[in-house]
Amino acid sequence: MTNKIRLENLTYCYSDKKAVDNITLSLHSGKFLTILGPSGCGKTTALKLIGGYLSPTKGSIFIDNIDITLTDACSRKIGMVFQNYALFPHLSARKNIAFPLEIRNHSKTECEKKIDAISELIGLTQKELERKPSELSGGQQQRVALARALVFEPHLLLLDEPLANLDRVLKTKLRNEIRKFRPYRCYGPR
Ligand code: ADP
Ligand code: MG
Repeated sequence: MTNKIRLENLTYCYSDKKAVDNITLSLHSGKFLTILGPSGCGKTTALKLIGGYLSPTKGSIFIDNIDITLTDACSRKIGMVFQNYALFPHLSARKNIAFPLEIRNHSKTECEKKIDAISELIGLTQKELERKPSELSGGQQQRVALARALVFEPHLLLLDEPLANLDRVLKTKLRNEIRKFRPYRCYGPR
């Protein structure tokens, strides 16, 4: 089994504050890793480093043994669901999900096909796709964020506190769905 992702001495400082301190780990393809720790210990910062939203102060990130430390977020093939979902409030759910495809220059027909496929998989109806985030429930917004993170067929999916802000019933449902989820099962092996 090959290492899908490897972090080497990953460190990040916000000015004088060290938020991520020398993480070294590797994860095999098809596996889940949960980072558990108290508020402020650096979980979100570590995910943002892996996703390419922050550049490490020190250390390296490898995917499939290729050093992607300096690769921009858009070229990393990593999907991320942010804790607060970070949906574009002025765009419909459909347009939110289209965003990662549009910045990667997919054709309009291809975008529509991929959006419809992922929405069906995630359980978003055509009616919900036409609504803005403010017109959707918390659970539906989370599905839009998940669809947006998956639509461009990422090699790695990052979920920041995926069960926060959900009621008990939704929490149990999503926990089971996450357990079943494998990116390569949806899109074929890579
Ligand atoms: P967690 O997700 O585990 O709660 P974070 O990664 O959000 O932790 O934060 C780690 C540390 O970095 C905390 O002490 C937090 O206050 C600090 N921090 C987070 N974001 C910033 C920022 N933009 N500027 C300065 N400090 C920050
Ligand atoms: Mg956090």
